[in-house]
Amino acid sequence: MIYQCVGVGIGPSNLSLASLLYPYKGVLSAFFDRKPEFAWHDGMYFPGAKLQVALFKDLVTLSDPTNPFSFISYLHAEGKIHHFLNARFEAVPRREFRNYLKWASDSNENVHFGEEVTQIRFDGHFVVETDKRCIRAENIAVGVGTEAHIPSFARNHIGPTQFHVSEYGAKAKSLKAKRVAIVGGGQSGAEAFLDAISCDHDLLPKQVTWISRRENFLPLDDSPFVNDYFMPSFSDYFFGQDAEFKRAFLERNVLASDGISEKTLREIYQRLYELRFIEDCGNVSVLMPGRTVEQVWHDGRQWGLAVTHDATKSEEEPVYADIVIWATGFRSARMPFLDPLVSRLEYEDVEVRIDTNFAAVWDGPANRRIFMLNAARRQRGLAEPNLSLIAWRSQCVIEAMLSGVSCTRAAQKQSFMTWQPINAWSERQHRAV
Ligand SMILES: Cc1cc2nc3c(=O)[nH]c(=O)nc-3n(C[C@H](O)[C@H](O)[C@H](O)COP(=O)(O)OP(=O)(O)OC[C@H]3O[C@@H](n4cnc5c(N)ncnc54)[C@H](O)[C@@H]3O)c2cc1C
Repeated sequence: MIYQCVGVGIGPSNLSLASLLYPYKGVLSAFFDRKPEFAWHDGMYFPGAKLQVALFKDLVTLSDPTNPFSFISYLHAEGKIHHFLNARFEAVPRREFRNYLKWASDSNENVHFGEEVTQIRFDGHFVVETDKRCIRAENIAVGVGTEAHIPSFARNHIGPTQFHVSEYGAKAKSLKAKRVAIVGGGQSGAEAFLDAISCDHDLLPKQVTWISRRENFLPLDDSPFVNDYFMPSFSDYFFGQDAEFKRAFLERNVLASDGISEKTLREIYQRLYELRFIEDCGNVSVLMPGRTVEQVWHDGRQWGLAVTHDATKSEEEPVYADIVIWATGFRSARMPFLDPLVSRLEYEDVEVRIDTNFAAVWDGPANRRIFMLNAARRQRGLAEPNLSLIAWRSQCVIEAMLSGVSCTRAAQKQSFMTWQPINAWSERQHRAV
């Protein structure tokens, strides 16, 4: 039996592909995840955490609103669509979106958990080995996402009192009377800080120090024209630019994807006001933006962090803590299962080079493809790791994979912005007419 598509990893990226493929009954597909059951950032369900994108940016809707795996179908199937509307959430609770994703994975017999893909070879078809079986496929969809990132100097210290924020739920159960240092000024660091200072008076930590390399605790830029970066037309425009432009663009616009939501910032500020001016606990929090943590050590009693003030270069601000939480982001996950194919793939810096349909550029036959989902931020832009374009990206993959099958992707209207140079743009318009 030859599968048309085998997916590695079942996070939102491949779950979107599995959901959009589902109505094609003649297409044999199988998706595998090493986790025993569906999970989505399960260590990070801070009270009040919300989805940072609109609810229509689910697995399928932006490509095929009639697909049975939409968020609205989920609410309807679970009998809570009226309640959801009446609740008037300003954004979908993160845990509810996770429940939706789990529902979609439970409802799709092509997805399999508790099965790790260990190796993929090629002999005219892809030979996919998991720790339970070996199957053959015409196409592969790699959707292995990201892994927690911790600075190299801290990795040997990881344990119960020093950990990545993705383990917050399991390891930060009681911070009472402890000194806590949180390193990282993005959304995850902000949510951990807010959670740590939000408990009742008698459960409060002794001190919570929040350190960020950024000059301030800066907001996510969620404004309309910046959100154009999360549209298919911009992803295509970005893809066509040269590597140096792309690198500088990503650096300049980091807050479009990695800033802190305004709601979280306001809640933090209000809580700081309460602690200092109402509850008389002003010493609980220390906010240190514009600092870099250079080293960490344990002196037998406590953790010490060597911190440099980025403006003055002063190194005389050591921070001592009982618990250290690294909110230092995520990096692309390793893909050891691709080792047998590595020499056949082209690379662009550290990323596998992809074509316009998200297929890896390689020396194999054109009708055998390895699609790379959420593995090409440097090539495709800020939206790549985000939920915004997952449905559109899956549809691109399906159209490339099932050539000849009629797909439902409707033509999109032009952006309000003219991203391309006018001449190139008008020439294309002219040709289209
Ligand atoms: C706390 C948090 C909140 C977020 N909130 C938002 C948001 O509100 N809006 C937004 O747009 N984005 C958000 N993001 C970013 C985005 O949702 C995530 O990056 C998303 O999970 C990406 O999906 P993915 O499928 O590409 O990867 P992942 O979700 O990381 O899934 C990859 C899967 O691959 C599996 N895997 C890896 N290797 C193998 C193997 N060899 N065999 C089998 N399985 C394997 C892993 O077990 C994992 O389940 C958030 C990220 C975090 C950390």
